[in-house]
Amino acid sequence: MNLFAFRTAGAAAAAIVISAANAGPVSFTKDDANVAYETADELVRECTPRHAGTLRGRLAANWLLDHASRCGADVELDTFQDETPLGQRTFTNVQIEFPGTGTNAAWIVLMSHYDTPATAKQPCAGANDGASTSGLLVALAGAIRRSGPHPDNIALVWTDGEECSKAYGPNDGFHGSRRLVNNYREQGRRVKTAICLDMLGDKDLHIIVPSNSTAILKKLAIQAAEKAGLKGLLKVDESLVITDDHTAFQTAGCPAINFIDFEYGPGNSWWHTPEDTMKHVSRESLHKSGRLIAAFLNILCYGK
Ligand SMILES: [Zn+2]
Repeated sequence: MNLFAFRTAGAAAAAIVISAANAGPVSFTKDDANVAYETADELVRECTPRHAGTLRGRLAANWLLDHASRCGADVELDTFQDETPLGQRTFTNVQIEFPGTGTNAAWIVLMSHYDTPATAKQPCAGANDGASTSGLLVALAGAIRRSGPHPDNIALVWTDGEECSKAYGPNDGFHGSRRLVNNYREQGRRVKTAICLDMLGDKDLHIIVPSNSTAILKKLAIQAAEKAGLKGLLKVDESLVITDDHTAFQTAGCPAINFIDFEYGPGNSWWHTPEDTMKHVSRESLHKSGRLIAAFLNILCYGK
């Protein structure tokens, strides 16, 4: 394993005192939604394109490390080599781990990819597809930290190489999540739930949980939407199969779920096109998505 640790320092981080006395349910506020939106907007402006295996992709990983560190948590880069149809490439996952209070606590893994699609026929900024949930994960890091520690271990991972370089296949696409599964297997970690977030900043938000998510988690997702007051927002679509970063976990036998809005523009026509810009992403949608994921985490961690 090639794990490089970066410790955050500075007065701001040192001033944040977290103790078990603060622990409680995760809440996701309007301010959190603003952090999510601003982070996504800046990531698009400063780090586009950010194709996997390129120098600009590596710069985006370091950019995320810097921004994710602002919540005061330690952030790590996991840089690794993997085969692709174009030869061996270097990928970087960005990750934060919040240790749980339970003995032998299991892991809840939240993922968002941050890379842009190299296969797009015209340049695609990946504002909704990649940046929106990467911003959401930065905001969730702050929300989880201020309400923690929580009973379960919680890992947030910004995955690299979710997009394929030529066509999805065993060695093309989902490099970051496959790496993560291998790391967890080597470390003997027990995964309670792997959660993949994708395209959740869409102004016209309709969240889908595809059929290839673990059955019990589909039920909990519906409960979470009800608890967050977002009942009409989420639908479990039993006719839809989506391969995404949750798939590697499912293949490894871990409970896993995908939250995605795969209706981006008429007939999903903005997906992987120059239309995928911040003009189609909204703070309101990121607020709803954040509230839904906070409610889902609370059901997983606290049973309510
Ligand atoms: Zn994509």
